[in-house]
Amino acid sequence: MDTLEGHLTDFNLRPTACRIEVLRAFEGVSFALSQGDIELKLQAAFDRVTIYRTLKSFLSQGLIHKVLDDQGGAKYALCKDLCHQGEHVHQHDHVHFKCNACGQTICLEHVIIPKIQLPDKFLKQESSLLIQGVCQDCNIA
Ligand SMILES: [Zn+2]
Ligand SMILES: [Zn+2]
Ligand SMILES: [Zn+2]
Repeated sequence: MDTLEGHLTDFNLRPTACRIEVLRAFEGVSFALSQGDIELKLQAAFDRVTIYRTLKSFLSQGLIHKVLDDQGGAKYALCKDLCHQGEHVHQHDHVHFKCNACGQTICLEHVIIPKIQLPDKFLKQESSLLIQGVCQDCNIA
């Protein structure tokens, strides 16, 4: 409990009951969660709007980042230390991997998206790369 609250205050987020439970949901898993996944985990303890706002505040404070899903829906993953490269630099240039067997999407923090050369006057703000396949756990020879 202390660590969850501490984690929230580290990111300038007041530790409300909903924020604590949503953070707990993320810390309990190694893969990205959709809002629906979180609603299921919290078993209707909080309404959709409260959870939605909680995710928004986590995103804006850099506690989690968005993970695109092939279904068009968004998932979210906890930011790791690697996201923070210096005081004001917060980036997610790592690859996301979606397993077609278990359906889970994970962050491959150490696999960096190669530099893409954009045409003149195009300014990159964010990039995302989703690789689909079979994950380590499902790939049992
Ligand atoms: Zn991040
Ligand atoms: Zn898998
Ligand atoms: Zn990620």
